[in-house]
Amino acid sequence: MKKTMVAGIVSLAAAPLLAGLYGDTPDEKHAWAVHDWNRPKPAKVEVDAKGVPSDAIVLFDGTKESFEQNWQSDKGGAPTWKCEGGMFSSKEGWGLGSVRTKAEFGDCQLHIEYMHPADTKSLGGPQMRGNSGVFLMGPQYGYEVQVLESYYTSREMEGKDGYVDNYTDGQAGSVYAENPPMVNPQRKPGEWQVYDIVFHQPVWEGDRLLHPGSITVFFNGVLVQDHWEMEGQTTHCKRRPLKPHPKKGPLTLQDHGCPVNFRNIWIREIPSRWDNKTHSAMSADTAEVMKLRRETAEKLFAKVDMAKPGSAKTVQALLEVVSYSKDAKYLDALKASCDAYKASLEGMDDAALNGAKGDVNNVWKALDVLRRNKVFEEDCPFCKFIKDLREKKGWK
Ligand code: MG
Repeated sequence: MKKTMVAGIVSLAAAPLLAGLYGDTPDEKHAWAVHDWNRPKPAKVEVDAKGVPSDAIVLFDGTKESFEQNWQSDKGGAPTWKCEGGMFSSKEGWGLGSVRTKAEFGDCQLHIEYMHPADTKSLGGPQMRGNSGVFLMGPQYGYEVQVLESYYTSREMEGKDGYVDNYTDGQAGSVYAENPPMVNPQRKPGEWQVYDIVFHQPVWEGDRLLHPGSITVFFNGVLVQDHWEMEGQTTHCKRRPLKPHPKKGPLTLQDHGCPVNFRNIWIREIPSRWDNKTHSAMSADTAEVMKLRRETAEKLFAKVDMAKPGSAKTVQALLEVVSYSKDAKYLDALKASCDAYKASLEGMDDAALNGAKGDVNNVWKALDVLRRNKVFEEDCPFCKFIKDLREKKGWK
């Protein structure tokens, strides 16, 4: 014998006004339906005339106050790099030390601009031509997007004045020691360069690597690192495998004994997809999904007009509730509503019934979504009643 549907209920209400009853319903990995109007809307972000999003943390706005407020020397204390003219700068010769943010960050979107002096020259080999670096999560266990004067490194320059040979996994835009940039969009020394970086750190479950993380880099607006999944932590010469580390670290700009100027630095902390426990086939936790579904059902249920159990709108609203949770109290309410609506339709004369065509069709659409998603059985009694009525009337 077939399992009896709770109360002869059926599927949902697909009326356009009902969010959850349009696309496929929530499941064990997804707290929201496809095209779910109940799903929370993203926060509004404004972008100012300089291109800075309103939710960004500005790490350097060109002022000395901003520099001293947000940065420190990696040796401790105030930053020792020169700050004037709307930029801050490393200098020739080792000794200043790197600078790092006082705040620590994990996954992020980072905007940073840098410029090599127009007269940049090698101070000892190609790696001493404007070398610095953007160390995401600091140098201790971090990941470097290389900063270098590499305009004269491109193969198109080979044989021409100024050409500089270099190893490609160490040129500007490389994930240092791992992956060269796909192309070389660097401008000449004396012109500002722009990095827009999206960084996700590796994801660990204890000592088990779930995902190696990724670095995406737009270099002067050109994609040069396309979601590069890290193979290790930043290294020199020897490979350095990934290993677990704290989830936040300082953004660090490398002192490599070369003059490099920086300006316009802002960062946005971003979520890891792996932290999404309520809506992701990859990372959702079913207990968390079901908890959110029950919370959504409760919120929707509180809005249902139970004073009119026999109205099509109430039936649809309860069908929507049940798409999130088949808790007995919702099913009981739905059964009562379906019974009342059925009695109402059965009591109508032909003219009134014809006037109810739109409502009946909307109820059917909702039911159909739930049937399609196996929330209800195909032949649940209320489904059959509505289906037979529509067929008898020839309603499409
Ligand atoms: Mg470097």
